[in-house]
Amino acid sequence: MSKKSSLITKLGRITPGDLPTPPEVAIRVMHACADAKLNSRKLAKIISSDTALVAELLRVANSPFFGIGHKVSSVSQAVVVMGTRSLRNFVLSFSARESLRANTLSGFDALSYWETVLRRAVGARRLAEMAGADMDEAFTVGILQDFGLLTLFLVYPQHAAAWEQLRGMNPDERYRMERETFGTTHDEVARLLSKSWALPDEVAFPIAHHHTEFHDAVSASQLTLTRISTCADWIAAVFAATDKRLALARCRKLLGDYFGLNTAKADALFSAVPEHVAEAAGVLHLGIGPQLSFDEVLARANRELVETSVQSEDRAPRLERALAERERLADELQVAYERLAQLAYYDPLTALVNRRRFDELFSAEIARHSRSGKPLSLVMMDLDHFKKINDSHGHPFGDAVLQAVSGVLKATLRSSDVAARIGGEEMCLLLPETDVEGGRIAAERVRAAIEKLIFPHGAIEVQLTASFGGLTWRFAVQDVKAIREALQRVPEVMGEIMSCADKALYASKAAGRNRLTWVDEPSIETSAEASPAIAAHGKV
Ligand code: GH3
Ligand code: MG
Ligand code: MG
Repeated sequence: MSKKSSLITKLGRITPGDLPTPPEVAIRVMHACADAKLNSRKLAKIISSDTALVAELLRVANSPFFGIGHKVSSVSQAVVVMGTRSLRNFVLSFSARESLRANTLSGFDALSYWETVLRRAVGARRLAEMAGADMDEAFTVGILQDFGLLTLFLVYPQHAAAWEQLRGMNPDERYRMERETFGTTHDEVARLLSKSWALPDEVAFPIAHHHTEFHDAVSASQLTLTRISTCADWIAAVFAATDKRLALARCRKLLGDYFGLNTAKADALFSAVPEHVAEAAGVLHLGIGPQLSFDEVLARANRELVETSVQSEDRAPRLERALAERERLADELQVAYERLAQLAYYDPLTALVNRRRFDELFSAEIARHSRSGKPLSLVMMDLDHFKKINDSHGHPFGDAVLQAVSGVLKATLRSSDVAARIGGEEMCLLLPETDVEGGRIAAERVRAAIEKLIFPHGAIEVQLTASFGGLTWRFAVQDVKAIREALQRVPEVMGEIMSCADKALYASKAAGRNRLTWVDEPSIETSAEASPAIAAHGKV
């Protein structure tokens, strides 16, 4: 069975012929934008063949929303000023809206559907801004990520009324109910749609995977955009879900786990959503009603809390109530404890171990390795010319780069290794029970993975490298007395290992960066004075 037909079987009775199609001109624009040999004159000509699209394009290009800042008066000028990427994204949003207009459904509240679509889109856009990802692309993903659900309503109009129920659910509940009602889900349908809509991979991938927890090798930008899409769903739920407390808690947690946003930053993001929704609705000519403010969301969430406790007051017998209360307190305590541990041990931006925790772990490892006599490797790394990245693309972009690099460390190293952020863009890798060969291989793997990262930023792609200095420390086990003495010297040994790694790192920088220098013969366990030989190696 071919891949395509098995997909269709999975979608039950839905076939590509049932799917809403974008205006013909949109398909042609998609194909043209995917063409490497595209010239802007040809693209302008395709767009000019559809007067509705031309009118929309000029209106949108001149709206502050797309932030172009020029007065655009012709299609060819819009094509040049916007660039193919923004243009393609605009055409997709336009097509999504057109296909809903063309397919009215009785009993389906289209405006409330669009309201949630816009919440996802502006949530995704704002989050992309904070994460240094492509904002236009994120907006488009937000517009299209639930398009599969609309398609399901179009194919099964008898279920149109189910929207009333679905709109008050959170993304997980909605996903389950879709499967019960339609036998399939919006992301599966989206995989089919991606083909007939000629969606570019960057947009198609997150739409197809925003409900999938996956750890396979995907590019950093795909992973970021997919996570943005997942969060966008929950951001919309904060405003639309009946259970606002749950949506809020889940969304804050996701934003923290994926993007290192603390509660204050997450709440700032939520607060900005209603205003942006109103603005985007204006740009897309969708007449949606007044927006619920985030303060109102919080007030409702608190009312839910009071109502829940009042209800349990009525029903639960006293003992049960006391037990439930104790359980709740224990849960709360556990959450508070985990938060504290998180704050105390991890760096909030990158979720790597922080300097303080690193020092603790490092001295514990020195003590452990002193007793076992096994080799302990330490690698210090520093991003190359990172200041330039901040200066050219902005601090938030630099932050996103740091997060992606940290992701590389977590994905590349063993779970027993420790990756710590010890300074701004300086990190340390602590590799227990690892000898010279193993240490060099690990560091080289990290170096090569960082070199391969690609960060799209507007029209360009940014890349970076890092320099490394490492060494392997081994305590020659003699007797209990020697070990006891060694243990007393732990802080001193730690300082010496760090300073050797630092010197090796400096040697890598001096030799031209993007390389690893390994200190060949560390002699710090025998003499505090002797300085180990430092050898600079090119790319291993
Ligand atoms: P070199 O190759 O010599 O290491 O050059 P460099 O530019 O990376 O080195 P330098 O130490 O001069 O600059 C480090 C930069 O790292 C300066 C600072 O703006 C940036 N930085 C430090 N912490 C953060 C952070 O948390 N976020 C962002 N975006 N940038 C940071
Ligand atoms: Mg640097
Ligand atoms: Mg530095």
